[in-house]
Formats: sequence, structure tokens, C-alpha cells
Amino acid sequence: MKPLCTRRIALQLRTHHQRPILAARAETDQQQQQQQQNLTRRIAVPAAASVLIAAAGFVFLRKTLQDLAGPEAKKATLKALSAPEEAREGQVAHSDEEWHRLLEPASYRILRQAGTEMPFSSPLEREKRKGTFVCAGCGNPVYRSETKFDSGTGWPSFWNPVEKGIKQTRDGSIRFLPRTEVRCSRCEGHLGHVFNDGPPPTGLRFCMNGAAMKFKADEA
Ligand SMILES: [Zn+2]
Repeated sequence: MKPLCTRRIALQLRTHHQRPILAARAETDQQQQQQQQNLTRRIAVPAAASVLIAAAGFVFLRKTLQDLAGPEAKKATLKALSAPEEAREGQVAHSDEEWHRLLEPASYRILRQAGTEMPFSSPLEREKRKGTFVCAGCGNPVYRSETKFDSGTGWPSFWNPVEKGIKQTRDGSIRFLPRTEVRCSRCEGHLGHVFNDGPPPTGLRFCMNGAAMKFKADEA
């Protein structure tokens, strides 16, 4: 009897002593959890707010850029041209190898590879005579001197093309800056881009590469 009784007392004592320890442990766990929650809240809330602000800024910037050079320019271009998608008769088509052989290297890079020349690099930018600017690839008339203006950009600029001389397509090569590309309607050669910040009467700026064109002065 005696040993059993001693064991029971010992067990009771142990149980009695363990209770506060377990309670204290639970309390510590709870405190830790709360601290973790507080920490998460302190980090997560500002982080989420930053992400939201950045996303809003991104959407705003994209919209602004689109307004500047995207659909508005395309809409205006479509309005200005009587039949922009209608190509001239007698399409000119060559293989890439033939174009390479036929064109000057600078013209090939722009017309066939949609390149861009350095600003102020073309003598056509300073051309003031009366005449017609034709496509350097196929001789298709694309702009008249009467529609040329000094845009200050360093690229030959016009406010209107020759009727049916060009066609335009959406250019998404710069992901967040959709632009309207201008191509020759006869040989599809890349000439430049059109923007909606030009002078009256159209409000358009056809920003062209000089090396993509040739100038033919009017005969006196
Ligand atoms: Zn052409």
C-alpha cells in the first residue's frame, strides 16, 4: 500500500507542477503567434499598398502613352486618308535577296528591316524645293513639298501624304507604346511613323526616314 500511495502523491505532485509549465508554454506560443501576425501585418500591408500604387501608376502611364501616340493617331490618320488601305495598282515585290542588291545599305535597313536613321542625317530633312518625295524602293510618290514642315525632330516631316501613296499599320514593337507605322502602298517598304501632334490642317506629323525616300524636284 505504501509504495502505491507514494507513487500517487508523486504523480499528483508532478501533474500539479506541470500544469503551470504547460499553461506558460501555451501562453508563449500564443504570444509568438500574435507577434508573427503583427509582423506580417506590418510588412504585408505597406507592401500591398506599394504594389497597388505601382499598378495604378503603370495603368495611368500606359494610358497616357497610348493617348499620345496610339489609337488616337491611327484614328486621325484614317480620317485624313481617303482610302488608306487601298494600294496603288502595280504592286512591286522582290525577294529579300533582290532588295538587298537593289537598295543602298541605309535604304535597305529602313525600308526592308523597319530601321530608323539618325536624326538630322538625311539631306531630305533640309530639302526646301518644290517637288515630290518618292519611295526609294519603288519610286511611288508619297509626299509633296507643300505638306512638308519643320518639326525640329531631325526627320523629314509632313502633315499629309500623297493620296493613296502610303498605308499604315499598327506597330507594337515597343510593348507599352503602340505606334502607327507608315509603309509605301506599292512595295510595302517601311517609311516611318505617324503621330497626332502635327500642325493644321490635319494635326498629323508623318515622321519619315530620309533614306527611305528620294526627292524629285518639279520641272520649271
Ligand atoms: Zn515603295
